[in-house]
Amino acid sequence: MKWMIRRQKFSRWYLGILLVLGLFCTGNMVKAQTKLALDYEIEGSERVLLKWESDSEDSVYQLERAKAAAGPFSVLTTVSGKTGQLTGYDENVSLGKTYYYKVKKLQDGKIIEESAVKTVKIILEKAEGIKAKSLKGPKVKITWNKTRKATGYQVYRSTNAKKFKKIGVVKKNEFTDVNVKSGKVYYYKVRAVKKNRESATGNPSDVAAVYMKPAAPAVTGSYVKKKIKLTWGKTEGADSYDIYKKNSKGEYKKIGTTKKLHYTDNKVKKGKSYLYKVVAAYSKDGKTVKSKKSRQCEVLAASIDPNKKMVALTFDDGPGQYTKDIVNCLKKNDAKATFFVVGSQVDSYKSSVKAASEIGCDIGNHTYTHPDLSRLSEKEIKNQINRTDKKVEGATGKTPTLMRPPYGSVNGKVEQAVGKPMILWSIDTRDWETRSKEKTINAVMGHVKDGDIILMHDIYKPTKEAACTLIVQLKRKGYQLVTVRELAKYRGYTLTRGKVYHSLRKR
Ligand code: ZN
Repeated sequence: MKWMIRRQKFSRWYLGILLVLGLFCTGNMVKAQTKLALDYEIEGSERVLLKWESDSEDSVYQLERAKAAAGPFSVLTTVSGKTGQLTGYDENVSLGKTYYYKVKKLQDGKIIEESAVKTVKIILEKAEGIKAKSLKGPKVKITWNKTRKATGYQVYRSTNAKKFKKIGVVKKNEFTDVNVKSGKVYYYKVRAVKKNRESATGNPSDVAAVYMKPAAPAVTGSYVKKKIKLTWGKTEGADSYDIYKKNSKGEYKKIGTTKKLHYTDNKVKKGKSYLYKVVAAYSKDGKTVKSKKSRQCEVLAASIDPNKKMVALTFDDGPGQYTKDIVNCLKKNDAKATFFVVGSQVDSYKSSVKAASEIGCDIGNHTYTHPDLSRLSEKEIKNQINRTDKKVEGATGKTPTLMRPPYGSVNGKVEQAVGKPMILWSIDTRDWETRSKEKTINAVMGHVKDGDIILMHDIYKPTKEAACTLIVQLKRKGYQLVTVRELAKYRGYTLTRGKVYHSLRKR
């Protein structure tokens, strides 16, 4: 700033000296005050409008033109009898050429003043109305208005609004830039060109800027020392991240902002499951540009020791009247299970399903009406799965990621159509057949091993009673009761859609 002021002062002083010198040289103060000067406009790159000021009605003004700086000059027009602004047109110009103009003031046929020579190059008009828009891909589309007489346009790009580089030449008044990255800012301008008339290239257009959204971060989370720690990788261009957490009303609310690539949430209760999303952002030119929300990251506030034994209790055919009691037993013992629900029953026991999900249990898909899927068409199978997914989403806000086919019935068509990993079992309690608390308990305790998937049905009273005892007994024997997804994670399995799993033992 200081420097600018000093320079301005200096140039004023310098001009002053020049003016004084000029006065000395001409020795005529009047002439210096009414300096004759030409101004011009190029109209439609096909004619030149020349303008000057007249200060006397008695003078004749003679406008002259030459095709070279040194002349010869020939008269274009003469104007007289007026004061104020006088004008003259030069209609006989061609694109890309340079012309030289001057105006002379005459009184009684004598030249009494002469303007400096004005150099005018006839170029294409500046391209107007430039706009830039980011599109999926990512790519950027630039459009502008057509310029008269142009046969094409040069497109320039910059990433700092200062240094522009030519990135293309097009015939139409639009350009798509595919060489762009998310999270970046690009500035564009264009110049009109005419074939074989490089010298007629128009002045650069105004600048259009595009602010590319950063990519949404990929978030993972873990429960460490009574806190949930979220981490994500760096997103190109992003310099800050907003963290959102799903509240009890099912809405994502912002809980914090950080410039780091991690965030710790200490407002968590042990045993509860939480959902998070993260938004990447950057600020440029006074704007804040945000990514879409990341995919949800679910974190259970509980620690699982991968070195200890673990099994997955699974309950089919619910939700029913005993589901809530089982959820309460699990909650009391800090245990989790997986419920494969029948979609058509979810609405009747919505709160049980929600409660199960909230304590970290997993809700899987057990079809909508419990048919043998191997007898259905692909379309019917998909319908069974999708309707149940919707019901579970309605109750828990989460889409089931696992599926259990009724009767364990799977064929190639089912594998194709289900679109989720299919979880069978390694211990079948046959609780539906025996309807016996003791037999159900014995079926488990007599055979259980690390990595087992245990099948029960939460619609029978003896099963409910057996489950509450089993939860305690298994824990006493050193088993951690985890969901199928946790079991897979800690035993090193990546559950794959269309694949069938019976157990998830250490390999
Ligand atoms: Zn079933």
